[in-house]
Amino acid sequence: MSVRVRFAPSPTGALHIGGVRTALYNYLFAKKNGGTFILRIEDTDQNRYVPGAEDYIIESLKWVGLIPDEGVGFGGDYGPYRQSDRKHLYGKFAQELVDRGHAYYAFDTPEALENARQSTENFTYNFQTRTGLQNSLVLPPDEVRRRLDAGEPYIIRLKVEPGQEIPVRDLIRGDVLFQSSELDDKVLLKTDGMPTYHLANIVDDHLMEITHVIRGEEWLPSTAHHVLLYRGFGWTDTMPQFAHLPLILKPVGNGKLSKRDGAKFGMPVFPLPWAAENPEDSFTGFRDTGFLPEATINFLALLGWHPGGDQEIFTMEELIQAFSVEHISKSGARFDYEKAKWFNQRYIQTSDNAVLAEHIRPLAESRGFRADLPFLTEVVALMKERVTFLPDFVDQGYYLFGPVKIYDEEMIRKKWNPAFQTTLEALAGIILQAQSFEAPSLEEQVKQFIAAEGLKPGEILPLLRLALAGTMKGPAVFDMAVVLGREETARRLRESPGYFNRIMPVIAG
Ligand code: GLU
Repeated sequence: MSVRVRFAPSPTGALHIGGVRTALYNYLFAKKNGGTFILRIEDTDQNRYVPGAEDYIIESLKWVGLIPDEGVGFGGDYGPYRQSDRKHLYGKFAQELVDRGHAYYAFDTPEALENARQSTENFTYNFQTRTGLQNSLVLPPDEVRRRLDAGEPYIIRLKVEPGQEIPVRDLIRGDVLFQSSELDDKVLLKTDGMPTYHLANIVDDHLMEITHVIRGEEWLPSTAHHVLLYRGFGWTDTMPQFAHLPLILKPVGNGKLSKRDGAKFGMPVFPLPWAAENPEDSFTGFRDTGFLPEATINFLALLGWHPGGDQEIFTMEELIQAFSVEHISKSGARFDYEKAKWFNQRYIQTSDNAVLAEHIRPLAESRGFRADLPFLTEVVALMKERVTFLPDFVDQGYYLFGPVKIYDEEMIRKKWNPAFQTTLEALAGIILQAQSFEAPSLEEQVKQFIAAEGLKPGEILPLLRLALAGTMKGPAVFDMAVVLGREETARRLRESPGYFNRIMPVIAG
């Protein structure tokens, strides 16, 4: 039987980065095994539905390159893949469970349940409490019929028989044993005829012939109910195998990473930006922070999985080859943002310049900067060893696109002497006349000039750098000059004494 896995998010808001990791592990598992990766949207809970969330999920998957083989927006033979488009389907399955004696009608009003909650500590609807409530296990059959015929509102609940052992073999955590006496009678079908997560999830996994359920650890307890549903339907032969992924922990290592941790630790915990009315619910993402999708994937892949050995940089193809559920760890994985940054630096350094130029083009455009690809490719080549995020190219390297706006005043005070004005002007002349305008020969010519003037490189080269960039940080100065071009380099050299002189009086006075 060929492997079929699904990523089944609920569109209740922006997709957390942990959700992207779940999608990734499903994807890697499918590809490794020549299987099918499915995107199913679980939107049966209309109260929690958030407009835009489904598009966000799809956009996020596309951005990181996890393209479903089947699913909402991707077609396939097992559709529809959005549960709200399948709602007509679930009622008959709930009914089937009632007919098989594994589920029952419950007529309890919200008030009656509220009363029960008030009068019983830790009330749950289960084998003990159900005998005192209004359901088809208690009411005489003709009374049940009368209520149903009269159109009284009802829900359908799973009938959990006490005293059963429910072993779950989890591919990551091993054998986990649940006791049915500890489980409640989960609602399967609501008064409006909509299924709950549990019913829809199991029916769909069955109909979509899912072979492996790979999902977050928070769903492990629900698995006991899911196994009971498979038993109730008589589907245990084709029940999928389960793998529950470890939690993602805060950067400080204790507690689950939450969506609020983004703002708290100054880092993205979502793939894409998300705008909500309430600023507290608006988030930045990995993409807009300036992560490359490949770096994001590599970082997420190692968040709870490692094949052993020292390799840390993996292409998607290498991840697919190396992936196995056995190497997913049981314990939580710390969200090490410094590591994410390290991956991004590495990926930027090793990415093709032309590809990076394409990435930064919209950033240059949005700042009104020159944005032709040949120029951006030169900028990228110059800066790629020094940046962490894509916007750094245009933010840190802004002086390659336009005039210097900020000068390192402390450095100018240290290095500037108005007597050097004529030196810089002469240097501008050298630049304009340089035979070849390439970094090595330019460097040689400038150094010869400095020596001929009886000066030291340490006196003049910092000034050249400050004139061109305003800062001592940044790429090699002669490479910078080449990208700026002969005219612009000469112009900055000629104009800089004016700026430098304006800064100097500050110490004089
Ligand atoms: N809809 C569930 C979620 O939002 C899916 C859990 C599962 O994969 O079964 O995570």
